[in-house]
Amino acid sequence: MVLRVAVPKETARGERRVALTPEVVQKLTKDGLSVVVEADAGAAAFYPDELYRNAGATIELNANAVVSGGGLVLKVQPPSPSEASLLAPGTILVGLLAPSRSLETIARLRDGNVTAFALELLPRITRAQSMDVLSSQATVAGYRAVLLAAEQIPKFLPMLTTAAGTIRPAKVLILGAGVAGLMAIATARRLGAVVEAYDVRRAAGEQVRSLGAKFLELAINAEGQGGYARELTPEEKAQESAMVGAAVGQADAVITTANIPGRKAPRLISREIALTMRPGSVVVDLAAESGGNCELTRPGETVVEKGITFLGPTNLPSEVPFHASAMYAKNLQAFLGLLVGKNGEVVPSFDDEVLAASLLVAGGEVKHAPTRDALGAKS
Ligand code: NAD
Repeated sequence: MVLRVAVPKETARGERRVALTPEVVQKLTKDGLSVVVEADAGAAAFYPDELYRNAGATIELNANAVVSGGGLVLKVQPPSPSEASLLAPGTILVGLLAPSRSLETIARLRDGNVTAFALELLPRITRAQSMDVLSSQATVAGYRAVLLAAEQIPKFLPMLTTAAGTIRPAKVLILGAGVAGLMAIATARRLGAVVEAYDVRRAAGEQVRSLGAKFLELAINAEGQGGYARELTPEEKAQESAMVGAAVGQADAVITTANIPGRKAPRLISREIALTMRPGSVVVDLAAESGGNCELTRPGETVVEKGITFLGPTNLPSEVPFHASAMYAKNLQAFLGLLVGKNGEVVPSFDDEVLAASLLVAGGEVKHAPTRDALGAKS
């Protein structure tokens, strides 16, 4: 039987992305899969139904029929608990399932005998790079964060020499130079700002400098497992705070992206340090959802204190929905390359390292230990 791939319209508030683009649908239908797309699923990202139809998909008007028809269901955001209950037993769900924040949904997937892959659990290994949705979406977020900052400050970013005088370039400080931070550096540099950046992983220094920014260095190298950062000791935190504090006070815009996997985001900017910034300056905190790098950030809100603006955006990729969806869909296409065999059937076992690591729920069990523990603690 031909494998059915279903793409529902995203229902999370403010979500404009779609899991598959017409380009990737065409590839899947060419490979012999049958693709069902909910009407208007791509509309908010400017992929109209007609393009999906031309790519070989069937457009389905009934939202319930899209998800309840079985096969593979591809999502960007986790389904709500009631949407999870609509999935037929044996369905395979793939998406960013936010394991720690969607426990009720996960319990329903488990009880409904759905198999679920959470793409945020993909290992960060070379072979999985083409599927790495965290990287692709962080790239979008880093870009968009700079545009938000540029719109907010009352200044130009570039240096200008004009008949009306010379304008000095704005100073942008990027804290955390991982995927989002590096994209923010590149974007701010392209707009002509003077950019400084800091990361606890010393390896980030070379990448920062290659983008034309200054790397702020401490005598700390907190490179932890798998290329991620580890938490700092109290003494290291004090050193970090002194250096970051001095740089924050000089900046027109600060973009913070620091995260430690599985933990609360590190607090890099205290209220006291934040208020040393000049009125008119801005902090864009990309870690808002995981606790914030800045004490004054509130997730999803704009806070203004002493003329300084603190933005805590929680879904920047959705603000560039066309390209964020295009990158996400390409990541999914690569992931399906592992999950679907040559004859268009789901592979018989999920032993592959990448599939095994991202398998969240299967056979009525939660496979990811931290999520299983969290569910156990809740019940
Ligand atoms: P992330 O989102 O977990 O963290 C963002 C950045 O914050 C990281 O660079 C981290 O070092 C930094 N950070 C943490 N604590 C900090 C602190 N106290 N002060 C300043 N900075 C702090 O990370 P990410 O952007 O997803 O990726 C991080 C690393 O993983 C990078 O080296 C990246 O190149 C690597 N990576 C590898 C692959 C792969 O091989 N497939 C894929 C993606 C990322």
